[in-house]
Amino acid sequence: MHKLYFKYGVMGSSKSAQALMTKFNYEQKGFRVLLIKPSIDNRDDNGSVRMVSSRIGLKSECIVFNDSMDLYEFFLKENEKKKVDVLIIDEAQFCKEKQIDDCQKISDHIPVLCYGLKTNFKGYLFEGSKRLLEIADSISEIKSICKCGFKAIMNAKLVNGVVVTDGAEIDIGGDEKYEAMCYRCWIEGQKKKDN
Ligand SMILES: [Zn+2]
Repeated sequence: MHKLYFKYGVMGSSKSAQALMTKFNYEQKGFRVLLIKPSIDNRDDNGSVRMVSSRIGLKSECIVFNDSMDLYEFFLKENEKKKVDVLIIDEAQFCKEKQIDDCQKISDHIPVLCYGLKTNFKGYLFEGSKRLLEIADSISEIKSICKCGFKAIMNAKLVNGVVVTDGAEIDIGGDEKYEAMCYRCWIEGQKKKDN
């Protein structure tokens, strides 16, 4: 019996870097690691290969999948080709509930490590993160700090320097910026437009 892990953190908390370092650590010892991530771009085919890169410069190939992929079937197929020792999922917040349930099944065979955000810029759980908090065997936080020095827990979306809380959950290629903040700074940041 292995475990399903959820390692969550805010934006910029080095989640991808940690996922990549974990991959390298396993590979150095001769283990086969599958690194996968949900596609937020529907043009990606299931199983296409993309790069995961981290802000500190690490990068690696990873396999992308979309909403429809059965992760358990995918694991069984890959494992048949060549034995898989560990599954690592980056951006796990974008997984569907069913896909996290698949991960729990995979963890009967191998460890499954999920890295991702807990909440969206509105302050609500993502679908994948919600399911992970419900059923992961091990949950840990990758901590980082707000500009004020408190622990950052919110993923603020900034448009013209103002924290916004409306719009689509996933926004690709917009002009907005994201910044990890403590709850107080997140609330204060929303008031700036009134000044
Ligand atoms: Zn703060």
